[in-house]
Amino acid sequence: MARAGAIISSLFAEIEPLVRPGASTAELDRFVDDFVRSHRGAVPAFKGLYGFPASACVSVDEEVVHGIPSERMLREGEIVTIDIGVRRRSWCADSAYTFPVGEVGREAALLMKATYGALGAAVAAAMPGGHVGDIGAAVVEWVRPTGHAIFRDLVGHGIGRSIHEEPQVPNLGERGEGVRLEVGMVLAIEPMLGTGTHEIRTLSDDWTVVTADRSLSAHFEHTVAVTAEGPLVLTGGAIWGDAKRQDRESLPTRD
Ligand code: MG
Ligand code: MG
Repeated sequence: MARAGAIISSLFAEIEPLVRPGASTAELDRFVDDFVRSHRGAVPAFKGLYGFPASACVSVDEEVVHGIPSERMLREGEIVTIDIGVRRRSWCADSAYTFPVGEVGREAALLMKATYGALGAAVAAAMPGGHVGDIGAAVVEWVRPTGHAIFRDLVGHGIGRSIHEEPQVPNLGERGEGVRLEVGMVLAIEPMLGTGTHEIRTLSDDWTVVTADRSLSAHFEHTVAVTAEGPLVLTGGAIWGDAKRQDRESLPTRD
């Protein structure tokens, strides 16, 4: 699973310069498909999953998840989430990253920063002996001072030989509640935040989930193993280590 995860994290670093005004979301999807298949034994895990037609979910601005790549061209100031699953041999990894398209406004920058921080807080809560509710509680505590919305109808998940396994990993919760976290479990932890309502809608394509009020949303996701030493991120890499990337604006401070 770590090897599948490493493919995704290197992919994000490679695709970043392609996320620019004038690029189409279908171009990004083709890059994802080619990149993943260039690794022996690896295939894009989302293609055909429940009938999804592409290798990446590419979701722009008010699109929260499951955006279908198309000839739509990205414009300066938009934010675009690329969500990728990889199956290498029999094992899966799943990760998402929200990129700015050129220079983005303050609202979008703050949203990305808050969501990135929420992922960090959530990952840190994935401790052996803890509970799934600890992860949701960490997201809630992180997000409260930022004022952003949490899409309660969208959740993270267990992952392994399948992309989506038990347990569900909600982005809201209470400490000490839910499934107990055991060494060896692997979870896809994926806070999704918005600048407006927490309510979502699905478009008539039956895939694209948007915010009900068409406000902005962002989404960061890691595949995380619960180990005796604590959470181990399997989808980390250079792009994630560069905190300045999400530092274009400072958040309302937490510390
Ligand atoms: Mg994902
Ligand atoms: Mg996922």
